[in-house]
Amino acid sequence: MRVILLGPPGAGKGTQAQRLTQKLGIPQVSTGDILRAAVAAGTPLGREAKATMDQGALVPDSVVIGIIRERLAAPDCARGYILDGFPRTAAQAEALGEMLQALGTPLTAVLSLTVDPEELVRRLGGRRTCGSCGAAYHLETAPPRRAGLCDRCGGGLLQRDDDREETIRKRLAVYREQTAPLVAYYRGRGLLREVDGRGDIDAIFTRICRLLGAEG
Ligand code: ADP
Ligand code: ADP
Ligand code: ZN
Repeated sequence: MRVILLGPPGAGKGTQAQRLTQKLGIPQVSTGDILRAAVAAGTPLGREAKATMDQGALVPDSVVIGIIRERLAAPDCARGYILDGFPRTAAQAEALGEMLQALGTPLTAVLSLTVDPEELVRRLGGRRTCGSCGAAYHLETAPPRRAGLCDRCGGGLLQRDDDREETIRKRLAVYREQTAPLVAYYRGRGLLREVDGRGDIDAIFTRICRLLGAEG
């Protein structure tokens, strides 16, 4: 199964991708996680990307397309994957389409998660992310069992540098301008499935599984 999770920052892409990974046994491919790992490791890629990410702008298409090209060629992607945070521009979607056509591995579906803008700001403002494994928590709606520590790996929870009020507004504007047009792009290709991203995390997951025919 090859699935794209599309939606604005805070829509719940990472949260749902992680659940899908557990259920389906295929990897979550998050360009944001890959970039943050490069920043933490201080690699040339990370040094180049950090300022852009802190401003809430997009890393150049050529950079993320290169990341995805390499990642999708890894053996663990052979049975499928969940794309989270990629593609984010028309150029990225076109490049992905060409890549998958050359590989003979078409997309299964594009799931568009919809959430009201005020709710997105609330979610991003309270988000805390595991510094080790990238799992997302929320101070109010999805707290960890032990304060400040990841349920999955025990890592310390941090507030991302870009999850601050001003940068949040900027990222939502970037989404509207550059990424939202992909909804129509994939609808035109018959791949789009809309998912109501409001409400309970488990209820949304059930909706997604039903759409993918992965129930039970
Ligand atoms: P969120 O889902 O909260 O917006 P991500 O973790 O997906 O956050 O992305 C964080 C940042 O990483 C983005 O604001 C951007 O700077 C960079 N980034 C991630 N994915 C892409 C992409 N596909 N294209 C360009 N930049 C990206
Ligand atoms: P994205 O990857 O789309 O940016 P995340 O999965 O990181 O979004 O979720 C953003 C924040 O909202 C996190 O703090 C997460 O715990 C929280 N969250 C995710 N889904 C829901 C939901 N259905 N209801 C309330 N909070 C949620
Ligand atoms: Zn963790």
